[in-house]
Amino acid sequence: MKHKQNEEQIQATIEELRRQLQAYNRAYYELDQPLVEDYQYDQALRQLKELEDAYPQYKREDSPTEKVGGRASEQFAPAVHPQPLLSLENAFNQQDLAAFLHRLQKAGAPQTFVLEQKMDGLSLAVTYIDGKLSTAATRGDGYVGENVTANASTIKTLPHRLTNAPHRLTVRGEAYMPKAAFAALNQEREENGETLFANPRNAAAGSLRQINPAVTAERQLEVFLYDIVDMDAPLPADQETLLNDLSSWGLPVNPQRKICHNLSEIMSYIDEMSEKRHSLAYDTDGIVIKLADLPARKAIGSTAKYPRWAIAYKFPPEQAMTQVQDIVIGVGRTGVLTPTAVLTPTKLAGSVISRATLHNEDLIAAKDIRIGDWVWIHKAGDVIPEVAQVILEKRTGGEQTFVMPQVCPECGSPAIREPGEAARRCQNIACPARIRENLLHFVGKKAMDIDGLGPALIQLLSREGLIRQPADLYDLTREQLTALPGLGEKSADRLLQQLTASKTLPLNRLLFALGIRHVGEKVAATLASAFGDMENLSRATVEDLCAIGEIGEKIAQSVAGFFADPYNRQHLARLQAQGLNFQAAAVVTTGSLAGKTFVLSGALPGMSREEATALILGAGGKTASSVSKKTDYLLLGDKPGSKLAKAKELGVEIVDKEQFLALLGGNAHA
Ligand code: NAD
Repeated sequence: MKHKQNEEQIQATIEELRRQLQAYNRAYYELDQPLVEDYQYDQALRQLKELEDAYPQYKREDSPTEKVGGRASEQFAPAVHPQPLLSLENAFNQQDLAAFLHRLQKAGAPQTFVLEQKMDGLSLAVTYIDGKLSTAATRGDGYVGENVTANASTIKTLPHRLTNAPHRLTVRGEAYMPKAAFAALNQEREENGETLFANPRNAAAGSLRQINPAVTAERQLEVFLYDIVDMDAPLPADQETLLNDLSSWGLPVNPQRKICHNLSEIMSYIDEMSEKRHSLAYDTDGIVIKLADLPARKAIGSTAKYPRWAIAYKFPPEQAMTQVQDIVIGVGRTGVLTPTAVLTPTKLAGSVISRATLHNEDLIAAKDIRIGDWVWIHKAGDVIPEVAQVILEKRTGGEQTFVMPQVCPECGSPAIREPGEAARRCQNIACPARIRENLLHFVGKKAMDIDGLGPALIQLLSREGLIRQPADLYDLTREQLTALPGLGEKSADRLLQQLTASKTLPLNRLLFALGIRHVGEKVAATLASAFGDMENLSRATVEDLCAIGEIGEKIAQSVAGFFADPYNRQHLARLQAQGLNFQAAAVVTTGSLAGKTFVLSGALPGMSREEATALILGAGGKTASSVSKKTDYLLLGDKPGSKLAKAKELGVEIVDKEQFLALLGGNAHA
């Protein structure tokens, strides 16, 4: 009787775990808003697998342990994959990896492995016919994915054409959002009172699975390809050759990888990458260990869920324990009040953390974070420090519940929460904090690039009543500046020179600097090149704006609304009278580099990538992200790596900084 009861309990636990995992899967794959941390998900899946192995009578084909987790949404046309796109088995420690190697050894597989980064994005299968991009699809349930061709086509690093590729080719890779783009996107969403993405993976998936490709285009996704799903040519012999083939056809391939032959080599690469991964531009959640030999892979085969010849070693979650000393409020340029936890400084994932954003009052309430609490912190997407969880056992009773202020802490105006928004906003457009933040944005590096104006000087100038809006900057005089405490004549002159120089920057920079809602760098560039000058743009209707491929309704509304506002019109008129450039940069088709395509491999001594790119474009040249037959020059910087090898292989001319300047010099004399 006891035995039966036990079995019933086990069956109930199995059912409950399945139900839970199915709910997690739906939230994660279909809604791109996970309910739990990956680690918690992985533990639940592991527990279910162990129970199913111990009680095979309760195994079921449709269990989350047996199936790829996702399901194609009906919002997209279905795309049937030529071969199933499977998931990967997980390893969490050395023993799991040893067992994996042992299984392969027993099957007689040659012990050479390629170790790749497990980019934390989403799988993308891309088909090229006669070298032309034909379809791109998400993984879905592994058999049928979502046709996201229009969206994927906006990914800058995904080539639309390949060179010398097989007639029919389907490749698989990972579409991901770089850490910097993720941080910027969440910051913008916070400013706009929108829900935040939990990590770059969800942000990438949410961005690719959009009805409007214009939204995807805005999101700065990138892609690395790592597998051939299908092609009408013989498969290469091993993974390294496969990756080199992909790259020779013009596809971006992650250069961070290593060939290993045994467990100790594998473990030392994992150790090395567990530190180094924090300095990569994208988030990774592990290392994929793949059997190198392709015929051996075929012989070993797959389960319905994952190949038997590969495994994903998952990095353990990085968390640190610390105490919330205070909760302070910052006011952003659109007036959003953002609560931030001031923490006892503590080391986490490669840096010392002393503050963590709490995003909004709902989040504080949901996690019940109080001043004085001990908490676990982590970095969302390896970049944004966040409070993951309160350690309730450490509560003493002396903690203070935080109450979100109903007025702006800077100017005392009402801070109002619109229905449907998580953010509370200061309504006062003359709020000193908003003015300061707007000015800081205006002078930022990617905007008007006036580095003589830091936060302290902006604060001082606004306190003195000298600046309220960007146009005031251009009326500043030498006398006013030198009269300020701590600002010498030299600094004042330098600042005035920078301000004058900024007037010549092209329209896209000014548009971005103005801080129009939803107008990021890329949208600003699109608007500038589509309309040519500020006058044309200011007359554009929502329909005119939407008629541009990459501009969606929300952006169009915001831009048209900005130009309709009398305050903004008056401000623009002042900027124009002050001599700011209202024209878009002309597309240069002549010059010493006209028609030449450059690939950059990192930065040059004393010259950033951005500067080198600007010089190339200015002289009529183009830049590309990977070396192909169409590349004219590889500009050799501080990250030569695989690009250099590729350039040598294809006979592409390799130039260093001096040779590059000499090529440019031709332009100066032209
Ligand atoms: P996975 O993400 O663990 O591994 C498979 C995927 O890795 C592939 O589909 C591919 O997209 C990706 N990948 C990245 N780089 C790769 C490379 N170099 N080579 C091969 N593949 C590479 O598996 P999954 O089935 O997509 O998802 C399961 C994982 O997702 C879970 O382990 C969990 O961490 C997470 N998940 C979390 C939740 C949640 O609620 N938090 C829910 C479902 C899934």
